Amino acid sequence: AVNWALFGASTIASQYMISAIRANAGQVSWVVSGSRDRAERYARDNGIARGTSEMEEALNDPSVDAVYISSTNEKHKDQALAAIAAGKHVLCEKPLAMTLSDAARMVAAAREKGVTLMVNHHLRCAGSHRAIRKLIAEGAIGALRSVRVFHAVHLPEHLRGWRLDNPGAGGGVVLDMTVHDTDTVRFLLGEDPVSVTAETDATGMGAGVEDSAMSVWRMQSGTMVFSHVSFNHPFGTTGVEIHGSDGAIFAPGVISQDPKGEVWLTTSEGRREITFDRGNLYDSVLVEFGKAVRGEAHSGATGLDGVKSLAVALAVREAARTGQRQPLQFEE
Ligand code: NDP
Repeated sequence: AVNWALFGASTIASQYMISAIRANAGQVSWVVSGSRDRAERYARDNGIARGTSEMEEALNDPSVDAVYISSTNEKHKDQALAAIAAGKHVLCEKPLAMTLSDAARMVAAAREKGVTLMVNHHLRCAGSHRAIRKLIAEGAIGALRSVRVFHAVHLPEHLRGWRLDNPGAGGGVVLDMTVHDTDTVRFLLGEDPVSVTAETDATGMGAGVEDSAMSVWRMQSGTMVFSHVSFNHPFGTTGVEIHGSDGAIFAPGVISQDPKGEVWLTTSEGRREITFDRGNLYDSVLVEFGKAVRGEAHSGATGLDGVKSLAVALAVREAARTGQRQPLQFEE
C-alpha cells in the first residue's frame, strides 16, 4: 500500500483524491498547507494523521512513499523538486509548472532520481476515452479527418478564486482546461500537435486572465483539432467528436471528473452505442500510478505528457496574443 503526503489543502484532494487513494488501499498520513492552522483543520476534517506548514517535515518521514501535489500552479515545481530530491514518487496536478523549462527540470529530476512523476490528467483514465481510443486504433472510423473538443462550461461558484484573478498562481482557462484537452486528444489519437492557432477572450468572469479560448491544432498526421474551453458558458456542455473517412464517434458529456457521458459510433451501417467501464476516473489514475511505481507498463500521463500539454497551452496563449501560428517541437 502506498503511503501519501498531500501538498496542498485543496478542493480536488478532498473531493476526489483522498477517497481514491483510500479506495486503492493507500493511506494519507500528511497534509501540507501554506498555513499551519489550515493544515490542521484540513487534516482533522479529512481524517489525515498530521497537518503541517513545513513540507520538509513530511518529506523527512521515511514511511511516506509518494506525494500528491494539488497546490496552486506556481507551487508545483518547487514542491515536486523537493519531493523528488527526498526520493518520493510524485503525482502532480496539471499544469505541471508555469514554464516549459521548469516542467522539463521536473521530468529530468525524476528520471535522475529514479522515481515516478505522473500528472493527474484523469481523462485518459476514463472508460469512455479508453473506448474511443480503441475504436480509432481498430480503424472503426477509417482515416481521421478532424476532432472537435467541447469543454466550455460554467466554473462552479466554489472554485471562483485564483483561477479567475491570479495570473501569478496560474489562473486562466487555458492553463486549467486546454491542458486537459491536449492530453486527451494526444491519448485518443496517439500523436502530437505540430502547430496551433488561437483566439482567447475575457467575457467578464475573470480579471487579468482569459476565461475562454478557441484553438485549432494541426497534428503530426495532418488531422485538424478544434478545442473550445471556457469558464463562462452557463448553458454549455462537454463532449468530443472524431470524424473519419468511414465513420464518426460522437461522445457527449465525456469531458468530466466523473464517469459520465455516452459514446456513439456512426458508420454506413447505422448508429450504435458503445458501452464502457464506468469506474471512478481518479481511482483509475491511482491504479496506473501504482503500476508506474512498480516499473510496469501503464497508461497514466507521464511527466513528458505533462510537458506536452503545458507546451500546447502556452502556445495557445502565445498564438492568441500575437495572432501568429505557433509551431511546436518536442524532444523525447
Ligand atoms: P483550491 O483552490 O481548492 O486549492 C488550491 C490551494 O488554495 C490549496 O492548496 C490551499 O492552499 C488554497 N485554498 C483552498 N481553499 C482554501 C480556503 N478555503 N481557504 C484558504 N486557502 C484555500 O484548488 P483546486 O483543488 O481546484 O486545484 C488545485 C490544483 O489541482 C490545481 O493545480 C488545479 O489545476 C488542479 N486540479 C486538477 C483537476 C483534475 O481533474 N486533474 C481538477 C481540479 C483541480 P494551502 O494548501 O496553502 O492551504
